[in-house]
Amino acid sequence: MSKIQMTVPLVEIDGDEMTRILWKQIKDELLHPFVELKTEYYDLGLPERERTKDQVTIDSANAIKKYGVGVKCATITPNVQRMSEYQLTQMWKSPNGTIRAILDGTVFRAPILVDGISPAVRNWKKPITIARHAYGDVYKATEMRVPEGKAELVFTDKEGNVTKETIYDFECDGVLTGQYNKDTSIKSFARSCFNYALATKQDLWFSSKDTIAKLYDGTFKRIFEEIYKAEYKDTFEAQGLTYFYTLIDDAVARVIRSEGGFIWACKNYDGDVMSDMVSTAFGSLAMMTSVLVSPEGKYEYEAAHGTVTKHYYRHLQGETTSTNPMATIFAWTGALNKRGELDGNLALCEFAQKLEKACIAVIEEGTMTKDLASLWEKGTPNVVSSSDFIAAIRKKIESF
Ligand code: NAP
Ligand code: MG
Repeated sequence: MSKIQMTVPLVEIDGDEMTRILWKQIKDELLHPFVELKTEYYDLGLPERERTKDQVTIDSANAIKKYGVGVKCATITPNVQRMSEYQLTQMWKSPNGTIRAILDGTVFRAPILVDGISPAVRNWKKPITIARHAYGDVYKATEMRVPEGKAELVFTDKEGNVTKETIYDFECDGVLTGQYNKDTSIKSFARSCFNYALATKQDLWFSSKDTIAKLYDGTFKRIFEEIYKAEYKDTFEAQGLTYFYTLIDDAVARVIRSEGGFIWACKNYDGDVMSDMVSTAFGSLAMMTSVLVSPEGKYEYEAAHGTVTKHYYRHLQGETTSTNPMATIFAWTGALNKRGELDGNLALCEFAQKLEKACIAVIEEGTMTKDLASLWEKGTPNVVSSSDFIAAIRKKIESF
């Protein structure tokens, strides 16, 4: 069988720990035998970020800007403990944060559903995709601890005119935070969501707390409404799709009662929290995919989980681990499929879809990693190591 050729390189971003081990196995077993992989490789493993003073992270994001599609392995975000573990000279920032800041855009997270593992929420029949605005708010806030005294919000415009409002007159010690967002970023968030809804033929829900944050969240609500009316309403209606705004509290209640099958657009913090709730309720963090879509239509695919440190330490002890590679494989298939779409490379798209089918078929036939075993509803599962699971997928794809 001749290998599938690629014309434009895919930006390949390697990472850390257990996911780095899986990364290599996935390439060796499931990709190299079938595709003449053409990638531009960036090593975001912590030692290389240290060596390049994190320049490699910036370079990788710029490469995605250049080529349009990237696939990323999970990476360590250093904390105090990692400083000594990896002898770091600096606590390098979250690579995902850096890449998001360069590409801007929205993170879409969707669960991989398999027959035989039901969501914890009985009535969920279809995936729920969370669209998380990945810019500003509490993630870029300025914080202060303050003593007794007066806190004010001060704004100086370009002409030097000053607007001032009292936040609070502190009669004791307290805390303060200053958050911002930009209309340009909110607009691109809205457009990314409307485009993704059309591309995946799903309704779009958006929620915020505009009854309380009348100006802040009110701006999000207004911008979504304006863009919907001006640019998307007709197409949505023609395709029988709905755009629906509601308060975050109401959205939470409705999501639980729904049967799924829509995109839930969330502000940055809501998306952070709700995506963990949704992924856990769908079964496992290891079955959650994630894609960052920039307003210019650049795509970065990754797994939603981290580097699975606990398993890695066991791996270093010589233990065989049963770490689930599904979300990392689906990051690759998502990226290869998108590369195929952009390059008109049908064979590449077909391969990506076939690989996804093979993965799902293996689980549905009862072979899975340990994390899924307790969720399996169709008798006793065949629980295997990561390598054996990947080998089973290889066999399955060769049998198609
Ligand atoms: P994690 O790597 O997602 O793992 C947390 C736990 O979830 C694991 O101990 C494991 O539970 C389970 N799990 C996650 N993925 C799994 C998989 N593929 N197969 C089986 N079980 C899986 O989160 P963490 O331990 O909090 O973070 C570890 C490192 O990852 C940190 O350095 C963090 O900075 C980084 N991180 C990176 C990203 C990213 O690059 N996108 C995201 C999050 C965290 P059991 O131990 O019970 O088996
Ligand atoms: Mg979170």
